[in-house]
Amino acid sequence: MSAGHVFIVSGPSGAGKGTLVHELHRRIPNLWVSVSATTRPPRPNESDGVDYFFLTPIEFDARERAGEFLEEASVHGNRYGTLRGPVERRLSQGMDVILEIDPQGAFQVRKHLPSALLVFVKTADAAELEKRIRHRGAETDAQIRTRLDTAQHELKLEGTYDHVVLNDDVSRAVEDLVDYVRSVSPPDTKDL
Ligand code: 5GP
Repeated sequence: MSAGHVFIVSGPSGAGKGTLVHELHRRIPNLWVSVSATTRPPRPNESDGVDYFFLTPIEFDARERAGEFLEEASVHGNRYGTLRGPVERRLSQGMDVILEIDPQGAFQVRKHLPSALLVFVKTADAAELEKRIRHRGAETDAQIRTRLDTAQHELKLEGTYDHVVLNDDVSRAVEDLVDYVRSVSPPDTKDL
């Protein structure tokens, strides 16, 4: 059995990464979607162990010191990290793994796992990105401004990714992502 692939779905906050990963998982259920750890407090609709593992800053530090993170980054004032153990376990079982993480984390993973495939998700323009972040209603004006400033920088990284998905139309973007994953990891090769 060959090891699975790592697909990293990344790009600016508000580009729709979460929705695309959710739909990708629905279309290809044998992908394993990593659950990140964060120090960000849960939003009202989020649950521990499902959306994130919600940790205190002290717990996060302790896990970092113990070398438990494959990558970690501070994003908009909170810390986020991918737990190494569950990812390595799934890969060794031959499963493909999806990480939905920010660009800083994406490049850290590429350094440790050069075969990881980086997918950049973007909206048609900055105005659309702002509309989506505002529509989500989860952030204050100051937080929205921070996210848009970070996005300006992140958009410049597009050329260093393995694949770019333009999320102007969700169904088309999902098809694009599904096709890309299947082109790298065709369904039948996992059973050989
Ligand atoms: P949110 O707070 O809106 O859930 O996520 C904020 C940003 O953190 C998003 O860009 C998201 O992709 C990123 N993020 C979520 N989990 C991780 C992680 O484990 N590592 C890194 N580096 N970024 C993450």
